[in-house]
Amino acid sequence: MSYVDEVLAKVKEKNANEPEFLQTVEEVLTSLRPVIEQNEEKYRKAALLERLCEPERGISFRVPWVDDNGQVQVNRGYRYQFNSAIGPYKGGLRFAPNVYPGIIKFLGFEQIFKNSLTGLPIGGGKGGADFDPNGKSDGEIMRFCQSFITELYRHIGPDTDVPAGDLGVGAREIGYMFGQYKKITGLYQGVLTGKDIPYGGLLGRTEATGFGVVWFAEEMLKANGEDIKGKTVAISGFGNVAWGTAWQLQRLGAKCVTISGPDGYIYDPDGISTDEKIAYMLELRASGKNICAPYAEKFPNAKFFPGKKAWNVSKDTDCKPDLYIPSALQNEIHLEDANTIVESGCKFVCEGANMPTTNEALAYLQDNGVIVGPAKAANAGGVACSCIEMGQNAGHTVFQHEDVYEQLHAIMVNIHKSAMEASLKYFGKYDLVKGANIAGFEKVADAMMAQGVV
Ligand code: GLU
Repeated sequence: MSYVDEVLAKVKEKNANEPEFLQTVEEVLTSLRPVIEQNEEKYRKAALLERLCEPERGISFRVPWVDDNGQVQVNRGYRYQFNSAIGPYKGGLRFAPNVYPGIIKFLGFEQIFKNSLTGLPIGGGKGGADFDPNGKSDGEIMRFCQSFITELYRHIGPDTDVPAGDLGVGAREIGYMFGQYKKITGLYQGVLTGKDIPYGGLLGRTEATGFGVVWFAEEMLKANGEDIKGKTVAISGFGNVAWGTAWQLQRLGAKCVTISGPDGYIYDPDGISTDEKIAYMLELRASGKNICAPYAEKFPNAKFFPGKKAWNVSKDTDCKPDLYIPSALQNEIHLEDANTIVESGCKFVCEGANMPTTNEALAYLQDNGVIVGPAKAANAGGVACSCIEMGQNAGHTVFQHEDVYEQLHAIMVNIHKSAMEASLKYFGKYDLVKGANIAGFEKVADAMMAQGVV
């Protein structure tokens, strides 16, 4: 049995109840085959892949908090410190009711390669809680965040582990956690990123993920003889990533025609192309209702399709998008959605969310000639800017907006280049999914081999 298959079997046995984690491990290890085969003996002896698939540390803790009725509630918090071979653990915190170790481990594992791809010195980690921020008052959110960090503070630090936001965690939550960390430790440190501007946040961090996704898509299109300018783009989600994506599409002269929420999707034939519409996405998100339907009331030319996913726009309307950018959740593109995308004649999918495509759907898209920009490459702009924020805090300085955009753009161009070159080298073809895994892996593997059995 090959070393990859051997490790895959072990990981499946050990983590049988964590399908999301198994999905990403399978996707990554499978694409690493040619690199592993070249070094099979060396890596097997060092149990490199077994170590890579086992978090260095996983913390699970009680988060008790008092709701507005005086009732004590208890949630479960997590931090998985996955790999610190190339830098301190870095990755977001997700607050959502479905959070359990399988979700945090999938995100943490992805983060190792994503962070490595940025070219910056950051390891991989992820955390969160099974807490649903929707419908909670500001006071409840604050008390929850304070309780969460009252345990987590002892495991994090600017040179050990630097959490940030993810689903359900934005600048407000980061602010409450930062305040509590400072109160407990007495230290004013860059221990969290995604902070608000007045207390160490980075100008441009909020839109960084979305901007990065679109710059990555621009490179992907360019490499295939196309220009993003003038393209029609369907995106899903209406949160942080979707907002930055819609804004950057507008800046680069493309037309974003959809957004979506758990309630359905919006088709706006005029494009989400004005400052007013882009600002309205922020309002929708801030409403805490987690629905996108009100967009169609505010902008009557737009149409709301209840209960449907944005990919159906090619069936429900006469719009045929040139590019899809899933920017909501993991596993939102299943096989039937991939089929709809292929049937629509679209040639490009660029992943804004983490692992939005099931492995089956990914294979179907690629087998049918669709070029896929994988999340760990395409959405790495967020964490890249987080690392810039760490540098800003450590240097006790402030970086300017334009400098951040310039650095971010260069990072995204470089990620695309590394993924493209790795895929051409090992597979002789342009396959960014495999190429990104390999390019991300190589640096981490070399660092782990150099640092001995730890
Ligand atoms: N949650 C984001 C991601 O998935 C950002 C993480 C960070 O900035 O540390 O990459």
